[in-house]
Amino acid sequence: MEFVNKQDYLFKLIDEIQDYAIVLLDTSGNIQNWNTGAERIKGYRADEIIGKNFRLFYTKSDQEKGLPFQLIETAKKHNVANVEGWRVKKNGDKFWGSISINAIHDNEGNVIAFGKVTRDLTQRKQAEDARLKHLKEMEQKNEELEQFTYIASHDLQEPLRSLTSFTSLMQEEYSGKVDENFEMYNNFISAASKRMELLVRGLMDYSRIGKQRTLTTVNCNAIVGDVLSDLSSYISTSKAQVIVDQLPTITGYELELRLLFQNLIVNAIKFVKKDDVPKVHISAVEQGDYWLFSVEDNGIGIEEKHQDKIFVIFKRLHNRADYEGTGIGLSHCKKIVQLHNGKIWVVSHLGQGSTFKFLLPNL
Ligand code: ADP
Repeated sequence: MEFVNKQDYLFKLIDEIQDYAIVLLDTSGNIQNWNTGAERIKGYRADEIIGKNFRLFYTKSDQEKGLPFQLIETAKKHNVANVEGWRVKKNGDKFWGSISINAIHDNEGNVIAFGKVTRDLTQRKQAEDARLKHLKEMEQKNEELEQFTYIASHDLQEPLRSLTSFTSLMQEEYSGKVDENFEMYNNFISAASKRMELLVRGLMDYSRIGKQRTLTTVNCNAIVGDVLSDLSSYISTSKAQVIVDQLPTITGYELELRLLFQNLIVNAIKFVKKDDVPKVHISAVEQGDYWLFSVEDNGIGIEEKHQDKIFVIFKRLHNRADYEGTGIGLSHCKKIVQLHNGKIWVVSHLGQGSTFKFLLPNL
C-alpha cells in the first residue's frame, strides 16, 4: 500500500491504538490530545478532558505528595519518567497504570511538550498481589507450624524422660522378684519409649532445620567424605560399596547438606535386598543453573505409587522388624533441599534399586 501522507497515518495509528493511552501534554501537564486507548482506559471523552491537567488521574494522596509535578520535572531533566501506580478513572474506579512520560524537544533542544503513554496493568498487578498475599500467608502458616512442632516435641520430651527412667528403675528393683511376664512387659515399654524418643528428637530436628542459617561455600566431596567416615562402621558391617564421583563446590547450608547426604546414603545402604551387598553411587552433573545430584542404590526399590509419599514425615513403607527407622529422614531431606530452593524426587522400580535425585542451585 502506498502512503499518501505518512504523518496522517501516524496520527491515525496513535489515535486508534486501543491498549495504550497516548496523550500529548504541554510543559505544565495540560492535556492536548486524547486517543481511543485513553478513552477506553480512563473513561473520559476527548471533549471532556482536553485542556485539563493530567494530575486529575492521580489519587488524592499522590496529588498531595506532588507526584504529577515531580514526574514532569524528572521527564524535563532526564527526558523520561517511568512509573507504575494506582490511577483514577472518570467513574472513580482505580486502575494500575504503567506510565512513561517522554520529553519532546524543539530543534534547539528545549522541552516543548511531553508524550505520555499509559498501559492498564490492573489484572497483572492483582494477580501479582494475590500471589504475594498467598506466599505471605504460606510463610506465616509454615512458621506457626514449625513453632508448634518445636514446642510440641520439646514438651513431649519431659514425660518421656520419666517413662524411661522409671522403666529402668523398675527393671533394677523388681527384675527376678515378680513373675516372668514382668520382664517382657517392661522391655516392651522400654523399647517403645526409646522409639518414641527417636521420633521426638527427629521431630525437633525437623523444626530446627534452617533455623541457624549460615550460607557458606560447601565442597560436596569434602562433606560426603566426612559423612562416609562418620558411617565407617555401618559401611563395613554392611559391606557396602560406595562410589563417589567428582562433586561440585556450591553455596549452601553446610550442616543441612551434610544431613541430606547422610540420610540418603544411610537409606541407600539400609534398604538392601536380602543377602545382597549394598552398592551406592553418588554423582552430580551440571544442568542449566542447577547441579543435579544422584544417590543411586541397588536396593529393594520403591513402587511408583509410593514415590511421593515417602517424603512425608513419619511415612514408612515397611515395618520395623524388616527395616529399622522412624520415617523422618526423607522429610528432612525434602526440607533441606527446599531451603536451598531446590527439588528432590526419586526414580525407582520395585526390586531394581532407587536413584534419589535432587537439584541445588549452582550459585
Ligand atoms: P526411615 O528410613 O527412617 O524409614 P525415611 O524418611 O528416610 O525414613 O524413608 C521413608 C521410607 O521411604 C522408608 O521407610 C522406605 O520405605 C522408603 N525408602 C527410603 N529410602 C529408600 C531406598 N533407598 N530404597 C528403598 N526404599 C526407601
